[in-house]
Amino acid sequence: MKVPRSGNGTRVGFGFPAGLTMVAANFGLMTKQPMRMSHLFLRTLRDDPADEDVDSAKLLIRAGYVRKVAPGIFSWLPLGLRMLDHVESIIREELEPTGAQEVHMPALLPREPYERTHRWEEYGDNMFRLKDMHDADYLLAPTHEEMFTLMAKNMYSSYKDLPLFLYQIQTKYRDEARPRAGLIRGREFIMEDGYSFTVDEEGLKKQYELQRKAYKRIYNRLGVKYQIVHAFSGPMGGSVSEEFQAPLEIGEDTYAVSPAGNAWNVEALKTPVVPDVDFSKTPAPAEKPTPGSKTIATLVDQANKLYPRSDRPWQASDILKNVIVALKHPDGTTTLAAIGLPGDRDVDLKRVEAALSPAEVSEATAEQVAKYPYLVPGYIGPRVLGPQKADKDGNEEIPYYIDAHVAKGSAWLTGADKPETHVTDLVYGRDFEATGVIEAAQVREGDQSPDGSGALRFQRGVEIGQIFQLGLKYSKALDFTVLDQNGKPAIVWMGSYGIGVSRVLACIAEYHHDDKGLALPVEVAPYQVYVLTAGKKPEAEQESEKISQTLSDAGVDVLYDDRKASAGIKFKDSELLGMPVVVVVGRDFLSDGLVEVRNRATGESVKVDSSKVAQTVTDLLARLREEEDSQNGEDYDA
Ligand code: ATP
Ligand code: MG
Repeated sequence: MKVPRSGNGTRVGFGFPAGLTMVAANFGLMTKQPMRMSHLFLRTLRDDPADEDVDSAKLLIRAGYVRKVAPGIFSWLPLGLRMLDHVESIIREELEPTGAQEVHMPALLPREPYERTHRWEEYGDNMFRLKDMHDADYLLAPTHEEMFTLMAKNMYSSYKDLPLFLYQIQTKYRDEARPRAGLIRGREFIMEDGYSFTVDEEGLKKQYELQRKAYKRIYNRLGVKYQIVHAFSGPMGGSVSEEFQAPLEIGEDTYAVSPAGNAWNVEALKTPVVPDVDFSKTPAPAEKPTPGSKTIATLVDQANKLYPRSDRPWQASDILKNVIVALKHPDGTTTLAAIGLPGDRDVDLKRVEAALSPAEVSEATAEQVAKYPYLVPGYIGPRVLGPQKADKDGNEEIPYYIDAHVAKGSAWLTGADKPETHVTDLVYGRDFEATGVIEAAQVREGDQSPDGSGALRFQRGVEIGQIFQLGLKYSKALDFTVLDQNGKPAIVWMGSYGIGVSRVLACIAEYHHDDKGLALPVEVAPYQVYVLTAGKKPEAEQESEKISQTLSDAGVDVLYDDRKASAGIKFKDSELLGMPVVVVVGRDFLSDGLVEVRNRATGESVKVDSSKVAQTVTDLLARLREEEDSQNGEDYDA
């Protein structure tokens, strides 16, 4: 259900026009009741679950929001489900003004459409595949581009039908190799996935911009920080893509931020162009015996001893390191490739994989290398690779990709393709060529940013969303055309957009907790106020009851701790469960008629006359909402 917000920041239900609210109230539609702790399906846990590695998972489990069923698979309990519902409502509210329409697709899908886009293979082991009783192949969808394309194609055929934007909030399945961090990397998880269809690229860019803005508003309202990061689109396809990364140390992603505030994930980072080097005075290559020097470190030592340079000592960055990798292609075949890069940097297989997509890349095994007798492990040089080496000894050529840090015309100390031998002054562009230039080397903190603003800084993050200008990949594969203005068939341009709904909920908990428990933002907390009585005096209990009811009548979501438990237990649970405002009716009420209104996150509290509690609470909630709305996001072009 949609829960629009009124001007003063309290929630109102159903969006009835003002004149109708009384009528609705008379029919009982508007009345809220406090939720009683004695009734709530809840058991809080005193200790952290032993098998959880991040605070959000520990706390959401301890506070009875979710329970783990199996690695990466969770059940939602009443409190968690209410929070999830609030998160989803915010997403719906912000998507609706973009013209988005909600649909719902099955998770269980036939193989055929995914076959046509090659994703049945390209998705690799991450996709849950299964068979029905007739032995037909099915999958549990990791994402739904194919189905949305087919749905739009089945119903629409003219440019007049476009632009179209469809989305769903739905359960996705990915057989993650390492489900971890609770809801952050689930195997069953909830995603908002949206798809835009436009008649041309300009339309796509407009839709992309609309979604990008809506996502920014969503994350702001959810109370999570984000950085928009240039991304690599991976098996999704397309060219332009950005991720929304929540800067958090527990994240598995690392992205690089420039002094100007631009950010890239390392797969998308382009090395600034290195200028050509003049090699007119570089001597001819010379082979040098280097007995036993198989590693960069021993080679540097040995070269300095046996062949000292006149200008300065040899260093690792003078050595051209050649690494053989195995490429597993979508059709199941495996081939080898060689990567050349400066010896002071390691190969980043993820970056290589991004460059050579859709192949999966791993380091080649000794046996794979041994099939090529001309590859001498420890002494491999470019003179037997790529363009230099077609079909020697009946072996196929191994493509040679050179890292973007290697300048044309630069001279290298590198393998001579003979045991115990290296070669000096081997010049790129004179003595050898490459099959292609790629981003292969590990990015280092302090490397120069491609935007020219200075040194890159690293930040760890959790990817909470990604948006893609897909272009024509899916519409071509699934043959989705519409008739354009001239009556000619035009292939439809597509974009896709995703928010990790359950993951972002966990990130909210990561940002909004302390050592005592959750401390949630007003907009997403399952209830806004936690009312408790300290002590067992009936007058105090009656007052708690009354305050709970008054707040409920005013439209506030109240969790009323009516249990016959000690004040200590109630205080502890109020802190663990994390409702933003806590109301305490205790000794001060009995002596002076005062009730405490406490801000859970800051611990600040005021004591007010019991007649003013409702006003104080609604004022505080309104202020908290305002503060929440003005925080968070970092965006490089904001
Ligand atoms: P990751 O790199 O973290 O595996 P992804 O890039 O494969 O994520 P997308 O295909 O871009 O994920 O999916 C859209 C969004 O869905 C992601 O930005 C993320 O927030 C969420 N998501 C992806 N995988 C998971 C998962 N295993 N558990 C929870 N949320 C996920
Ligand atoms: Mg992604």
